[in-house]
Amino acid sequence: MKYKKTDVVIVGSGISGLSAARSLGEHSYIVIEAQSQIGGRLRSIEVKNGTHWDEGAHWIHDFGDHHVFFDRWRSQQKKRTRKKDRYYQFFRKNGTQEDPIPLWEEIDVIYSRLHPDMTDSAMSDHIPMDHLFFTHSIQTNTGCMPKNVSALDLALSSETGVNLVRPEGYAQFLLHDFSDISVQCNEIVQSITYADDRVWVQSDRDLYCARAVVITVSVGVLQSDLIQFHPKLPTQKQYAINHIMMGKAERVCVVCDVIEDWIDGYFLVEIDDMIIGLECFPYEQPFISAYFAGPQNITKKLSDITLRALQQIGYRQSIQSVYVSTWHKNPFVLGSYSAAHINHTKAREDLAQAHPPLFFAGEATIPQAYGTVHGAYQSGIRAAKEVLEWLKL
Ligand SMILES: Cc1cc2nc3c(=O)[nH]c(=O)nc-3n(C[C@H](O)[C@H](O)[C@H](O)COP(=O)(O)OP(=O)(O)OC[C@H]3O[C@@H](n4cnc5c(N)ncnc54)[C@H](O)[C@@H]3O)c2cc1C
Repeated sequence: MKYKKTDVVIVGSGISGLSAARSLGEHSYIVIEAQSQIGGRLRSIEVKNGTHWDEGAHWIHDFGDHHVFFDRWRSQQKKRTRKKDRYYQFFRKNGTQEDPIPLWEEIDVIYSRLHPDMTDSAMSDHIPMDHLFFTHSIQTNTGCMPKNVSALDLALSSETGVNLVRPEGYAQFLLHDFSDISVQCNEIVQSITYADDRVWVQSDRDLYCARAVVITVSVGVLQSDLIQFHPKLPTQKQYAINHIMMGKAERVCVVCDVIEDWIDGYFLVEIDDMIIGLECFPYEQPFISAYFAGPQNITKKLSDITLRALQQIGYRQSIQSVYVSTWHKNPFVLGSYSAAHINHTKAREDLAQAHPPLFFAGEATIPQAYGTVHGAYQSGIRAAKEVLEWLKL
């Protein structure tokens, strides 16, 4: 049987796959990517004359000193605080408008109820469920319903709450740095066959033989059986995969002709039984972004609901175009970001655990920063270190 030989195959060119490739030193590697472009859940699209909108990740979260992107952002650009970001204006479905909600103070209230040594339970046990902002906030953070979200999983992650945006698009900003990594796009990995010291990766194009494989696909993809493992993954690994959910979140971009002064800010709009977050005119970009999160909120026609939300806040200007993300339907992602089942926060460690010659990276594998770009980035570095140790043996 003909096959191509390399030291390491990396499955997926999201930020975790790219950082793994970057960290492999002199070893040869092949990065295989099913989609037509690199970046996975990091994707900026040009919506108007050089203006980019991030379909997926868009906030650079500050997780403290170790955040390489945040530090670079700071060093490259003078500090720029987000305008009017401290308040959300809240529009009820009955047409009334409530007092503005202080965003970060409210989020602090939620996090102050969580402790890393707490006994696990549902987030809905910790927040008043009639407080629509809390519910919206948990759904946005996790893509899940608060009754299904592990409070301990949230407590273990260490977000400080300082978020920044790159006006030219987060993906644009980051992926540029990886343009030297060679990636084979439009190639789908279908099976991985492994023995003690060798692994064979079969794609829809070729067969590869390597000494190690780094698997960076989302847990949604691992659950979908898109990739067959021979022999089957160990029970503990399968258990971990089945005890992490893929939360669901989608973004809608409405490109506008004219942005009036009053709309410059953040809105929460209640429509039917949904709460939609609208971020209007971020960094003077000529669009409005809507965020839909939680499985029950992304089944309807998101563009129509966004336009209704704009009507509700009194926006009457003409609209140039609308873009809608479809992460939950994308067979190579199948959701937005991971959330551990209640009482199963350890599943993240078990998912990360190497099973040489198989190594695992990706946002779901990093308990302190899951669901983020920099968490995924760190997971790639961690997996590459494990591979380097293994290759020494
Ligand atoms: C709507 C949304 C908003 C977000 N907002 C933020 C934010 O503001 N800030 C933040 O830090 N994070 C955010 N995130 C999360 C962040 O985007 C992810 O955590 C991160 O990008 C995940 O990177 P990854 O490398 O782990 O996975 P991915 O980016 O999913 O990469 C895995 C890659 O594997 C490929 N693949 C899958 N199956 C196969 C196969 N069989 N063969 C070959 N290739 C395959 C996929 O195509 C994909 O490119 C957001 C995500 C979404 C969806």
